[in-house]
Amino acid sequence: MFRFALLSAALMVCATSSIAADVDDLKRDAWSWLDTQTQVLEVANQNIWSYAEIGLAENKSSKELQDLLINNGFSVESGVAGMPTAFVATYGDSGPVIGILAEFDALPGVSQAATPEPTLGPNPEAGHACGHSVFGVGSVGAAMAIKELIVSNTFDGTIKLYGTPAEETGIGKVYMLRAGYFKDDDVILNWHPSDRNRASYGNTKAIANVKFRFRGSAAHASAMPWSGRSALDGVELMSAGVNYMREHVKPDARIHYVITKGGGQPNVVPPEAEVWYYIRADTFEDVTSYFGWINEIAEAAAKMSRTELEAVEIQSEMHEMITVRALSEQIQKNLSAIGAPKWEEQELAFARTTQLEFQDPFGRAIGSDDTPSLATHIQPLSDEPTPARASTDVGDISWFVPIGGLGVASYGYDLPIHSWPVVAATGTTIGTKALITAAKTMTATAIDLYTDPVLMERVKADWRKSRGDAPFKTLIPEGQMAPVAVR
Ligand SMILES: [Zn+2]
Repeated sequence: MFRFALLSAALMVCATSSIAADVDDLKRDAWSWLDTQTQVLEVANQNIWSYAEIGLAENKSSKELQDLLINNGFSVESGVAGMPTAFVATYGDSGPVIGILAEFDALPGVSQAATPEPTLGPNPEAGHACGHSVFGVGSVGAAMAIKELIVSNTFDGTIKLYGTPAEETGIGKVYMLRAGYFKDDDVILNWHPSDRNRASYGNTKAIANVKFRFRGSAAHASAMPWSGRSALDGVELMSAGVNYMREHVKPDARIHYVITKGGGQPNVVPPEAEVWYYIRADTFEDVTSYFGWINEIAEAAAKMSRTELEAVEIQSEMHEMITVRALSEQIQKNLSAIGAPKWEEQELAFARTTQLEFQDPFGRAIGSDDTPSLATHIQPLSDEPTPARASTDVGDISWFVPIGGLGVASYGYDLPIHSWPVVAATGTTIGTKALITAAKTMTATAIDLYTDPVLMERVKADWRKSRGDAPFKTLIPEGQMAPVAVR
């Protein structure tokens, strides 16, 4: 099936122009090989999509990916960094080391079937509303294709596939990084399902993920309320304080919370209460400053309510992304050569129905005549990094290793991520086509990096310039291990 082995000798002796031609052949062969794997990858996605397991509970999903990698000759180290669902799969032991990230956690409360109208899905508790089932499988597909090239002695190289759990709470990669993973790789690649096709070239927000726990004392809320102290009062006063603070933070800050424990029933003064905060800003430095302010507000709220601020638990944190222009350009070049996924009529119709069925909070349907149902083009690479909106724990790794990625259309155009239409589409052939396109793009980019030391050096130089020499700081206490559960 391969002409890889034949080409390996040619690569060593050819002049630059014919190497370029040979590299193009290598890419085309790898893409054809990936096409032959479509069914295997589709089944893996169907399974993980149906399990829809939330962060740190992705037992079956993680095993599905590990089994696929073991069957393809990778050695797998599982349960790394104290997280049972985290793993590292490796093939090769020489040459440049390229890592690929695979996520696979679902989101609670967004169950959805593979239908274009809202319908409960196979797991009534959760769904892949961030498309991480296709994310994980597409990344594994790329690792498999790259391994085939290494097996054929096409070039010297090592490929590592990182199974990174609990992305939605920014836990997996952060604790794997703390355990020493990623740092020795030359370059890391990843992708994310999107409503558009483009190489990633954007900033992300830094974040602190923190739980504040208050302790009061229980009493009959009517007979003897003066004997009790309400921990819920502590939580409410704290959040009132934070809501006054909002006026005085920079416009890029985002602070949001949910009350995860607020008492049992109204006739008992709540002895325990907990509020869970995400504190975000464009820089980790600003997050650190806001976190300090919010801590003082929490302490003051405890004083006002005569309760105790029992614990401030930093679950995790994420840093802003360091962008690498040279890598984004190379990914964009490969994505453009592959082209956007080619959609069938029924896939376009499916996505259009999800757009029309989806209502934003003000009742506006998405999907007017001039809105495509699914993206059919590659978006141009922006001149400047796009402004930060969300956060990702990929950002933390980017402080240690150059990282590049891409988005591939996996659901209806203009629809928001974390919504039911994303679950619906990624459970169909729309998701399959997206993950194959992503796998092809990452494979092609890896081929470029393995075979072109000048490109590799340019990527590293770009990263060093973008990274600067600011120290990497952390709010997570020394020695703290990953949480065992998200909630
Ligand atoms: Zn995601």
